[in-house]
Amino acid sequence: RPSKRLGQHFLIDERPLAAMIEAAELKNEDGVLEIGPGLGVLTLKLGRLVRKVVAVEKDPALFPVLEKLTGKYKNICLLNEDVLKLDLEKVSKEHFDGKFKVVANLPYYITSPILMKIVENRHLIKMAVIMVQKEVAQRLSARPGTRDYGILSIAVQLYAHVDLICQVGRSAFLPPPKVESAVVRLKLRELPSVNIEDEKMFFRIVEAAFGERRKTVKNSLKSRLSLPSDEIREALKKAGIDENRRAETLNIEEFTELSREIAKIIKNIE
Ligand code: SAM
Repeated sequence: RPSKRLGQHFLIDERPLAAMIEAAELKNEDGVLEIGPGLGVLTLKLGRLVRKVVAVEKDPALFPVLEKLTGKYKNICLLNEDVLKLDLEKVSKEHFDGKFKVVANLPYYITSPILMKIVENRHLIKMAVIMVQKEVAQRLSARPGTRDYGILSIAVQLYAHVDLICQVGRSAFLPPPKVESAVVRLKLRELPSVNIEDEKMFFRIVEAAFGERRKTVKNSLKSRLSLPSDEIREALKKAGIDENRRAETLNIEEFTELSREIAKIIKNIE
């Protein structure tokens, strides 16, 4: 019986599976990390296509089924672990000497920490093709000036080129989840898309700017950072940003400039 707590919704439609495989641009020599293999539909397909598959499944009840199913594939390695606790450095050392591609139909209740883990481990992961909730896919791929653009878009797009691959309806899963889904592809880069001197400061500014959604950047920064209004106005001017703009219209380059200017102000005050 599928576990709700573990976000178990098994894919029963071949089309999204085929779309995920195609989007991952798999080659014989690839190593794939699968998160939550479930009953192994994706795992078996991957096992036939690539050199190594490491599949991490938390549910001990599914494990014997998976072991039996994948038994004759010597290139499939099953780990009965929680992906959030998994030491990826160790997995990479023990199982595959190149960078992994992640291919996975994610358990939605831990989408954000998994995304953060993927981005943080970009020195070990070159691509991720993942099934997520449709709203998350929209936020991940959102461009500045759109409703879905926010902190998640920026945090991921800083280190990944994001493509929306396809939308997937509820009936593709058993049992059907409450929400619509979509497949996204992240092509990760080790260095950020812009040169950020102080990443901590960058995210402090991004979070402060988005903190008060309906306000202008100037007013959000004023209330969140407790800096004098004139100083914020000056920083915006130097960064070439009109003070009446809202956070959701600023691109990553503009946030970088702004955080650089605000860092200077803070340094002067401290
Ligand atoms: N890949 C299968 C499919 O497409 O049919 C199952 C996908 S299902 C949406 C998510 C899977 O992730 C489940 O098998 C669930 O047990 C597993 N899972 C949940 N939490 C996990 C965790 N923390 N670490 C590893 N796997 C987890």
